[in-house]
Amino acid sequence: MSKLHIGCHLSNSKGYLAMGKEALELDADTFAFFTRNPRGGKAKDIDTKDVESFLSLYNEHGFAKLVAHAPYTLNPCAAKENLREFARDTMADDIRRLEFTPNNYYNFHPGSHVGQGAEAGIDLIADLLNTVLYPEQTTIVLLETMAGKGSEVGRTFEEIRAIIDKVKLGDKLGVCLDTCHISDAGYDVIGNLDGVLDEFDRVIGIGRLKAIHLNDSLNPPASHKDRHARIGEGHIGLEALSRVINHPKLKDLPFILETPNEHDGYKKEIALLRAEREKAGV
Ligand code: FE
Ligand code: FE
Ligand code: ZN
Repeated sequence: MSKLHIGCHLSNSKGYLAMGKEALELDADTFAFFTRNPRGGKAKDIDTKDVESFLSLYNEHGFAKLVAHAPYTLNPCAAKENLREFARDTMADDIRRLEFTPNNYYNFHPGSHVGQGAEAGIDLIADLLNTVLYPEQTTIVLLETMAGKGSEVGRTFEEIRAIIDKVKLGDKLGVCLDTCHISDAGYDVIGNLDGVLDEFDRVIGIGRLKAIHLNDSLNPPASHKDRHARIGEGHIGLEALSRVINHPKLKDLPFILETPNEHDGYKKEIALLRAEREKAGV
């Protein structure tokens, strides 16, 4: 049986080592965190001692790849130039900072085109990535699949593919698939996971899929809402989410919970999902 790589979103207010220790308490071997205040703003300076202590814990315990999350306020395809500049500068700074913990992932929401149209949005997102990505970086940047709320770009696999196609350093890009978002976007996670993954493979290429945000959804499929539910308490349900973690094409990826939980709730969900892996024996 292969080990389930799972964790949840952690607060980085006390630094890297504190996150690593909290992950171990949760029986997690990966986690997500905001590189700065999720609403944006200036990031704290990297404390290199803290990062060093974290990295020895990380190596000692054989953590899987981490999945850092860009601030929600970052909109690479905003209509206003100053907002796009903020997105560009923030992402460039985040990537620089993530190189202190090399070879991990940095996930971001492609953005909202705010009435400019998806095509214009796709061009602006690709422009930003062409400005910030650089050949020597070890961090892989992940485009997150979105629910299609408002004018979100990335609501279909085709839109994600269109962005990737326009980026020169395409080998620095991957995709983070969010189960709540794709169900809300209309992909049949509940009834036809194989079909969804075949479509992902046909449109984007399954090799691009690097991480999963494992969330239940408060809303039925195709609702375009993006409201996360605890595992087994939403419309997707535990059975379908177990099929996700145990699917042969997905089982070795890092799974990140972004469910409405605190420490104890996350601990329970991680234990529940580890038991589901055990049951499946994959
Ligand atoms: Fe996200
Ligand atoms: Fe997500
Ligand atoms: Zn979401």
